[in-house]
Amino acid sequence: KDEVNIISGALELRKKTVSDVMTKLEDAFMLPITSILDFETMSEIIKSGYSRIPVYEGSRVNVVTVLFIKDLAFVDPDDNTPLKTLCQYYQNPCNFVFEDVTLDVMFKQFKEGHKGHMAFVHRINNEGEGDPFYETIGLVTLEDVIEEMIQAEIVDE
Ligand code: ADP
Repeated sequence: KDEVNIISGALELRKKTVSDVMTKLEDAFMLPITSILDFETMSEIIKSGYSRIPVYEGSRVNVVTVLFIKDLAFVDPDDNTPLKTLCQYYQNPCNFVFEDVTLDVMFKQFKEGHKGHMAFVHRINNEGEGDPFYETIGLVTLEDVIEEMIQAEIVDE
């Protein structure tokens, strides 16, 4: 029974897109780049339980980098380090994919690994008066793709 699920799940990957399985931007735990890494902010980060935190500049649709929890290892909350200083030091790149990328393609990219196991889902916004611009609409991780493949939830640690 499990095997049948996994096989049909694997076949379905070609029919589903990253936007079907992503965590929506409004549900993401993110930080503005202007944050100060004081005791309060660092506690909130730890409490969120996520290992990667998207960092945005200006508005949430403008994701500029990612903070890894392990980057906080040498940060002393008493120093009130600006998040920007840490981001400039690590310069963790973020990987963007279009909303219509299918899960088999996404899985292949995650498996190759060099772009990490999280991607930001974006689209071109050409509504309104101004020039079209990219906006981030969510994030997807390897776990989201694997859950789709095995057709089951992975309960987090
Ligand atoms: P983690 O290592 O932080 O637990 P996973 O890659 O295991 O992250 O993903 C677990 C789930 O949490 C996935 O559904 C993913 O989309 C979601 N997720 C990951 N990071 C964040 C975040 N910063 N805010 C909200 N959801 C997130």
